[in-house]
Amino acid sequence: VSGRSGDDDAQYEAGLRPRTLDDYIGQDRVRENLQVAIAAARQRGEALDHVLVSGPPGLGKTTLAYVIANELGVSMKASSGPVIERPGDLAAILTTLQRHEVLFIDEIHRLAPAIEEILYPAMEDYELDIVIGQGPGARSVKVPVQPFTLVAATTRTGLLTAPLRSRFGIVHRLDYYTEADMIEIVTRSGRILGVPLSADAATEVARRSRGTPRIANRLLRRVRDYAQVRADGTVTLDVAQAALVLLEVDAYGFDEVDRRLLRTIIDKFDGGPVGVNTLAAALGEERDAIEDIYEPFLMQVGFLERTPRGRMATRRAYAFFGLEEPGKDNRLW
Ligand code: ADP
Repeated sequence: VSGRSGDDDAQYEAGLRPRTLDDYIGQDRVRENLQVAIAAARQRGEALDHVLVSGPPGLGKTTLAYVIANELGVSMKASSGPVIERPGDLAAILTTLQRHEVLFIDEIHRLAPAIEEILYPAMEDYELDIVIGQGPGARSVKVPVQPFTLVAATTRTGLLTAPLRSRFGIVHRLDYYTEADMIEIVTRSGRILGVPLSADAATEVARRSRGTPRIANRLLRRVRDYAQVRADGTVTLDVAQAALVLLEVDAYGFDEVDRRLLRTIIDKFDGGPVGVNTLAAALGEERDAIEDIYEPFLMQVGFLERTPRGRMATRRAYAFFGLEEPGKDNRLW
């Protein structure tokens, strides 16, 4: 749906990334809080407190890290949990950080425990505990690192260990964007890319993007292709709709997994409740992906309910597929 993107996508995304808090659309509460914290850190001449940002993929976590570094007037080094394999990898990154620099670690919840422990003293006291030698002769040496700001991203804060989570002074969650914000994002991207785009076409693309800027930017690119090849290059409402039909993007912007997830609950489990592990097995998807990526959006649009006994498809989900919801009497059995 919105997972990792290829090089082409990455290049395209970089060009569309807002660089300042003012350019960063939506997420008003997050932006305002960061504005205050950044201004205060700058006034005091200190490194900004460590920042933890959570939220589904494509909502702007990486972008926010770049924005924070830019607003602080410092550079940023970027890495990610799965990439940092050995303690030495992280130590090498930390010891080369410059004063007040931002270190961005994506997917922080995937850091190995042994590596996480190196982060604790670095975050707290700006020092590393390095063990030299082995056995009885081993000794621990403290190596200072420059005051820095760790900006870490995760799809869910619940995946982090408590000791790690507690070391972040600033913790924010990004939510799916409102329709108004999405329209602004599509319009802005269209302007940057030089795509002639009517207002109603921008609204159409915005509505079908799952409240997710990365998806909006991707759809906009496909719609632009369609306008170029099948029309005169201008993205009108007709052109946008025809392109979206061809892409099989429906009114909610559901993708194949969203639809399959709902149909599985409805068809195989009589609408639920069904436990998330059973559901993951039936779908052949990772449980984490279901909980981090698919469920939050399906719940937000009111198609899925999480109950103590498991996941249930709602009346709206049945209506979406043109199905009758089973009677409540049957449900009890
Ligand atoms: P994440 O790190 O959460 O997966 P990214 O930061 O890579 O998401 O964002 C994906 C794309 O969406 C970016 O390239 C950027 O162009 C766009 N984007 C994200 N957040 C915003 C925003 N608040 N305003 C405008 N565009 C945004």
